[in-house]
Amino acid sequence: MTSQAAENLASVRKEIEKAAKAAGREASSVRLIAISKTFEAEDIAPVLDAGQLIFGENRVQEAKAKWPVLRERHSGIELHLVGPLQSNKVKEALSLFDTIHSVDRAKLAAELAKEIQKAGRSPQLFVQVNTGAEPQKAGVLPEDTDAFIKECRETYSLNVVGLMCIPPLEEAPAPHFALTKKIADRNGLKQLSMGMSADFESAVNFGATYVRVGSAIFGSRPKVDD
Ligand SMILES: *Cc1c(COP(=O)(O)O)cnc(C)c1O
Repeated sequence: MTSQAAENLASVRKEIEKAAKAAGREASSVRLIAISKTFEAEDIAPVLDAGQLIFGENRVQEAKAKWPVLRERHSGIELHLVGPLQSNKVKEALSLFDTIHSVDRAKLAAELAKEIQKAGRSPQLFVQVNTGAEPQKAGVLPEDTDAFIKECRETYSLNVVGLMCIPPLEEAPAPHFALTKKIADRNGLKQLSMGMSADFESAVNFGATYVRVGSAIFGSRPKVDD
């Protein structure tokens, strides 16, 4: 028996392949992060059983409640934090996540550097860029991003691998993807975390190496997101 989510997963994978092909890219150059926030372990299990191993959550506490159990049942799971990270949760985040997409301020970079050294293990790190300069949104402003990347690298020796963006809801995403790609290129960053359920095809066209897809796989969420 296949679950609805497993069926949705298969069609999202197909659409990613199609978008990659249209952009002249290898489908394997785009990794799909299944965003499982708000969904329970029993909703996630069928997606794991369907072979999806890369997942994303936006809250440390929620991930802590759900993922240790799932990790015991499945090997090879890769967990990504895609939501904002408070400095006082860094230690916990490092014990749960393989990749953090939301590095966006010096205080957080400093705390990450400290805890990474203590833990002796470094996750992949993305700098989040607030491409729409939205006051309520996390992320570094585009004009401050080069300097912040430099600070992460030189002052804190952080393993920054790429950039992440969340375009403003009410705008066409393409210019935001293009801007993120441009900033990544000029800083020698290979990874681009961009594209969600509504716009992942466009993100693939602009070079996304990670797309973060939630509702197109798991169905719609109760409206409590940030
Ligand atoms: C929730 C979330 C997603 C997934 O959004 P969908 O529209 O459900 O695909 C992607 N990225 C971040 C940062 C999120 O918080």
